[in-house]
Amino acid sequence: DAPLLEVDDLYVEFHTRDGVAKVLNGVSYHVEAGETLAVLGESGSGKSVTAQAIMGILDVPPAVVTGGAIRYHGEDLLAVSDQRRSDVRAEGIAMIFQDALSALNPVFTVGFQIEEQLRVRLGLSRKEARKRAIALLDQVRIPNAARRVRQYPHEFSGGMRQRAMIAMSLALDPEVLIADEPTTALDVTVQAQIMDLLKEIQVERKMGLILITHDLAVVAEVADRIAVMYAGRIVEHSDAVSLYRKPGHPYTVGLMESMPRLDQKGTELRTIKGLPPSLLAIPSGCPFHPRCPMAVDKCVTDVPGDHRLGLGRTSKCHFAEELVGRV
Ligand code: SF4
Ligand code: MG
Repeated sequence: DAPLLEVDDLYVEFHTRDGVAKVLNGVSYHVEAGETLAVLGESGSGKSVTAQAIMGILDVPPAVVTGGAIRYHGEDLLAVSDQRRSDVRAEGIAMIFQDALSALNPVFTVGFQIEEQLRVRLGLSRKEARKRAIALLDQVRIPNAARRVRQYPHEFSGGMRQRAMIAMSLALDPEVLIADEPTTALDVTVQAQIMDLLKEIQVERKMGLILITHDLAVVAEVADRIAVMYAGRIVEHSDAVSLYRKPGHPYTVGLMESMPRLDQKGTELRTIKGLPPSLLAIPSGCPFHPRCPMAVDKCVTDVPGDHRLGLGRTSKCHFAEELVGRV
């Protein structure tokens, strides 16, 4: 059976005044019904661009897809008609963002924005749509949903707005939900509540959830699998348990060392030295070599391929086997 949603060897370039930025360089991942894939990486690693490509919201130009496929139930969304593509995306795949204010229209009530989709796409009457909107707000634990449905986005707090956006994204009962840094703008307590809510909804609806984040701590408890991105490629792909037990790529090691841990209060956090590379001039060999504490000469010249580490794990590091102790 074809995976629910699959990105297969995707290449994207941005044609800028300064040259061609190689933003995605052969990205592959998939998500199945009822599982959570976390896509982890610093900003500029390509995690949002991959999501935008799935949703068909890349800015064209400057973005150009130069290779690969995006398959939903085996159907390549890059190869079908615009109409077919937008139908699939509207009804099968939904996305939420860091900033709910940019996703919600300030001049319409929250209820109207949910109901509009239900009326246009599903042909519900006004009354039915209103009922469904209230039920959705209720499901995302917005108190007094029947009153809240008539309010405008600015009348909601940050956390409540995020919940309203989640409700809106669920209106057409998507099979896949993509959440791009859904909690980054929120304070820590609210962050945890929203993550719990997303997880709960994902389990209840058996959705595939793609959780995009720069923060390993955020996904620690909810991810089934983790894809770590660097310089527009996936440098490690692993089930979450194995990755936390023993990261298979020096970049993942760095991300873990810069994650605050409750059991080690007061210890100084180590952060990865240097900055992510410019995508206009990706370093030779392993793109992580200028920042890698394990780098040797070979890393400067030879591009590491995918090393298979068992259980479907892969790592693009010449020393992946040594790192996980399989040598
Ligand atoms: Fe570091 Fe070399 Fe592995 Fe790249 S291939 S992550 S530079 S050790
Ligand atoms: Mg981003």
